[in-house]
Amino acid sequence: MLIFDAHCDILSKINSEEELFNNNHHWDAERALALGPFIQVFSAFNEIFPRNIAGVNMKKQIQMALSIEAKYPDRFKIIRSKDDLDKCIMECSRQKVYGILEAEGAEILGGSLEEFERLYFLGLRILTLCWNYDNDICDSVAGENPHNGLSEFGKKVIDKADSLGVLIDVSHASDKTFEDVLSMTKRPVTASHSNARALCSHNRNLTDRQIKAIARSGGVIGINFYSFFLENSGNAHILDIIRHIEYIASLVGTEYIGFGADFDGIEVMPSEMNGVESMYDIINELLRLNYPEDDVKAIAGGNFVRLMGQFLPSLHS
Ligand SMILES: [Zn+2]
Repeated sequence: MLIFDAHCDILSKINSEEELFNNNHHWDAERALALGPFIQVFSAFNEIFPRNIAGVNMKKQIQMALSIEAKYPDRFKIIRSKDDLDKCIMECSRQKVYGILEAEGAEILGGSLEEFERLYFLGLRILTLCWNYDNDICDSVAGENPHNGLSEFGKKVIDKADSLGVLIDVSHASDKTFEDVLSMTKRPVTASHSNARALCSHNRNLTDRQIKAIARSGGVIGINFYSFFLENSGNAHILDIIRHIEYIASLVGTEYIGFGADFDGIEVMPSEMNGVESMYDIINELLRLNYPEDDVKAIAGGNFVRLMGQFLPSLHS
């Protein structure tokens, strides 16, 4: 079964190309491919202060991904086009991991739409608007909210993303930013690593209205495995992941749900899990609960594949 995981911070943890394939963190390519064909969204992520160097650090991680691709073309491929995505599905490779590049915070743009174009050319296909800080394009759910949603520059970034074909990710955005984005764009929107606020009240999670708005846009929600986003006490089990899946499915159906595990960006996950090698425990649990196999395949990867297929350009190698 093809697995697509919509959020992972491993690029911020490794210091050499080789480490991507084998390491002691939550995610490495060997463990991912042991499960089957695997598409991983690789986040360029920076938590280091000051925030004005965040963009520089994120670009280093994009550079690292490019360098892994150049050095190990048989083992790592960045998906930039619909053709790449189709090839990945056809190959069904257990030797080559397929990656999609994402930046966790528009700091990477350095206030420049030209830079956005350059990053797109390199392979950036998903933009998470912000992390746990307000930036020059929008308010974060964990910030002071100086813009009241999207800034003027932020609106230009959304327009640019729409015209380039970059998927906008609203995980970490403030509720007002979320509203602004959804009212502006005609394209599907993702919350790549967020859960249901009705089940776990952390404000990083999505309200029912937001879940419905993402589904209406045609987007997909990636279930986050962070224990404190799964269960208020932080004492979470695999069944809590299932609970969030079931709740979101009860609101909008299974076709808008995927995985956004947040490996190597979270400190605690359900007690039975260690990292990417545990993903099949969730899939098996869904099958045990008599979810139709087609629904399980859609949640494990098919829904995000469908979404990316709507964004990726047709001719680009
Ligand atoms: Zn995050």
